[in-house]
Amino acid sequence: LQEQVMSSEKMNLASQLASSVAHEIGTPLTVVKGFLQLAAGSSEGKHKMYLETSLAELGRAEYVINDFLNYAKPQLEKPDTLSVADLFEQIQHSVSSLACLHQVEVVIEVTEKLWIQADPFKVRQALVNILKNSIEASIAGGKVSLRACRESDRVHIQVSDAGEGMTTEQLTRLGTPFYSTKNNGTGLGLMVAFRIIQAIGGHVEYTSKQGKGTDAIISLPMVREP
Ligand code: ADP
Ligand code: MG
Repeated sequence: LQEQVMSSEKMNLASQLASSVAHEIGTPLTVVKGFLQLAAGSSEGKHKMYLETSLAELGRAEYVINDFLNYAKPQLEKPDTLSVADLFEQIQHSVSSLACLHQVEVVIEVTEKLWIQADPFKVRQALVNILKNSIEASIAGGKVSLRACRESDRVHIQVSDAGEGMTTEQLTRLGTPFYSTKNNGTGLGLMVAFRIIQAIGGHVEYTSKQGKGTDAIISLPMVREP
């Protein structure tokens, strides 16, 4: 098993991202606009193709928005004391359609009542981004688990899959903006997740083996029951 801990160097890169993201969103939108203009003026037969292309491009913009802009949008940070069990249920619900699509079962396990302090939207976004990768790396019929336990004064959240796994080289690139091995990947999911986790005093450690699977352990400060 290999190990990788996120570095603050990668975090700094993130601050240079605004214009790249504008480009990532702008390009598909321009394509959609062009095809919709064509569809508006073309014979019936070509409509379907133009509309399909438009939908695919809109889907791509949607991915980028989901992975990144939800996080970047200027909303007030509203930290709250959150129950890890409740958080897990919300996350399980958020990924249910993706899990269904990949025919992957998402199991959650919380051994005791645990509480963390965080903005609920952001912490959900971070965990969903990590969990989505596990689902996407799994084969049909596979299982992904989301577990939490207490480790002295911290909460450890473990996301495990028995999916395709990663090489050492891949592990070292996790969290680098636009690093993706997927056809339709944004390469933004983990950068966003790592930043959010770091902002709430947490850290992430990945272990993985190619062909065997991946474990992500997210360590967060534990707080008292409100
Ligand atoms: P994206 O999912 O859009 O590719 P991410 O930042 O979420 O971008 O992930 C970056 C890359 O890290 C993925 O493309 C994949 O190669 C790798 N990765 C992340 N999590 C896993 C996992 N659980 N199993 C295998 N590979 C993973
Ligand atoms: Mg991802």
